[in-house]
Amino acid sequence: MIYADNAATTKLSVAALDAMMPYLMENFGNPSSLHTMGQKAAEALQEARETIAVCIGCSPKEVYFTSGGSESDNQAIISAAETGRKKGKKHIISTAFEHHAVLHTLKKLERQGFEIELLPVGSTGTVTAEQVEKAIRPDTCLVTIMYANNEIGSVLPVAEIGAVCRAAKVFFHTDAVQAAGHLHINVKEQNIDMLSLSAHKFHGPKGAGVLYAKTGIIPVSLIEGGAQERGRRAGTENVPAIAGMAAALKEAVANIDINAAKVSVLRDRLIAGLSEIPHCALNGDPVNRLPGNVNFCFEGIEGESLLLLLDAKGICASSGSACASGSLDPSHVLLAIGRPHEVAHGSLRLSLCETNTEEEINIILAEVPAIVKYLRNMSPVWKDLESGKRKFVL
Ligand SMILES: *Cc1c(COP(=O)(O)O)cnc(C)c1O
Repeated sequence: MIYADNAATTKLSVAALDAMMPYLMENFGNPSSLHTMGQKAAEALQEARETIAVCIGCSPKEVYFTSGGSESDNQAIISAAETGRKKGKKHIISTAFEHHAVLHTLKKLERQGFEIELLPVGSTGTVTAEQVEKAIRPDTCLVTIMYANNEIGSVLPVAEIGAVCRAAKVFFHTDAVQAAGHLHINVKEQNIDMLSLSAHKFHGPKGAGVLYAKTGIIPVSLIEGGAQERGRRAGTENVPAIAGMAAALKEAVANIDINAAKVSVLRDRLIAGLSEIPHCALNGDPVNRLPGNVNFCFEGIEGESLLLLLDAKGICASSGSACASGSLDPSHVLLAIGRPHEVAHGSLRLSLCETNTEEEINIILAEVPAIVKYLRNMSPVWKDLESGKRKFVL
């Protein structure tokens, strides 16, 4: 099997597994318990908090553990909105191509009377600090813009956006789920007030995440109950997963430049090779992109068929189109960068990590063009394109 779907989730690292085992077995205590076993678990949480704080350049007191990226996004946005509501500020700025954890939370707030402004992301999938600056109003309570896009891999200028928000005294949250472990994060230097992380995107376990909230910002509880996470997130902490997350992030950050250099060589070979397929286009920014992200649209095919045939060849990839719950809607990200519906349906995302090999890239470069050709030969749409009945877009 060739795994090229690291933007969806990653394999647990050995370092993460080793860090988790003691808290699954001998030290399984509840960190809220006063006995020795509980206190060992509490120490593990504190150590993880310190490790993560060092990795993102904040204080351990600013680190809140959550169940993952989705929860962190929800909590960050709802917390800033609550603060805004109290001050009569109901304008929130974001982008059209955020993750659904952000977009659906914003939709909910819109129904509660907030005004949501989604900035256009242009054909390469980015926004500028100037766009944000122009959009900020006296009643803006939050800017939430992702660090790197999960589908097309474009990297956004978060430090500049943060500076603009800081100057205007508006909270800035960034979903850094795809950036963590691949791009440098320093919340102080990058003027970030709130940030979301998810362990399973950087070789940690599923079901653990971080919300960083700058001192002075008090996260609103989404879950009521005990006083865990200083009263901001009730429920017994997932100690093994949190320990694993800290170990995974520490390892990823320690190797960040080496891995990025290695992975981007593989990425660029894939991009160069796949670009030779007729009537295709690279999605996302050709330069400012995640080291492991490759995303193409191929005209005249369905992304799902391509994925199934790749899977049959032992290649795990993803299509840009979120066919969640059987809906045939194309990816909102591809539509946001201006791909027409029919082209957005024919997308392929290959997301690499440092354990992918040159040999695997060779196999992908042999299989994808052959499968695209095979699918086009069976496609009535392709026949119409070739005969001129329908106009090529790409
Ligand atoms: C995966 C992902 C999330 C959701 O994280 P979970 O831990 O799976 O809830 C949020 N944002 C982005 C950009 C992601 O890639």
